[in-house]
Amino acid sequence: MKMNVESFNLDHTAVAAPYIRIADRKVLPHGDVLVKYDVRFTQPNVAHLEMDTVHSLEHLIAENLRNHADYIVDFSPMGCQTGFYLIAVGDHTDDEIHALIAATLQDVLDADSVPAANEVQCGWGAHHTLTGAQDAARTMLASQTEWQEVMA
Ligand SMILES: [Zn+2]
Repeated sequence: MKMNVESFNLDHTAVAAPYIRIADRKVLPHGDVLVKYDVRFTQPNVAHLEMDTVHSLEHLIAENLRNHADYIVDFSPMGCQTGFYLIAVGDHTDDEIHALIAATLQDVLDADSVPAANEVQCGWGAHHTLTGAQDAARTMLASQTEWQEVMA
C-alpha cells in the first residue's frame, strides 16, 4: 500500500548511505518548484547520529547553507537520527546540490563554535556538541563520491 509520506514508501533496507536523493518535488500553483532532498548520513537501522550531534549539525548546516545559496527553505533533522531533509526552491543539478552540501560541511569543519547554541536563540541551548558535529561532517564529506549512489 502506498503511504502518504514519500519516505514511508522507501525501502530503508535497500539503500546505501551516505547518499543524497530527491524525496519530493512539488510544483506550486504559480509554477514555482520546491524540491525536498533526503540527505542521509548513516545507514538506516545500522547506525545513527547521537541526538546532540544531530542538533549541532542542524544549527551549523542550516546557518551556513544560506551563505552559499539563496534558495534554501529548510534544513531539518529526521527523527530516526540518520539524516536530514533539505528543501530548496527551484530545480538544481545534483552537482550543484552536492557542491553546496560539501561547501557547507567544510564550514562545519572550519567552525569554532555552534551558532545560536544558547538559551535565547535555541530551545535547548546546552544540548550541543561541536566535535560530534565535526566528526559526522568529516565522515560525510569523505564519502562525497558515493552520494550519488542511493541503492545498494
Ligand atoms: Zn537548537
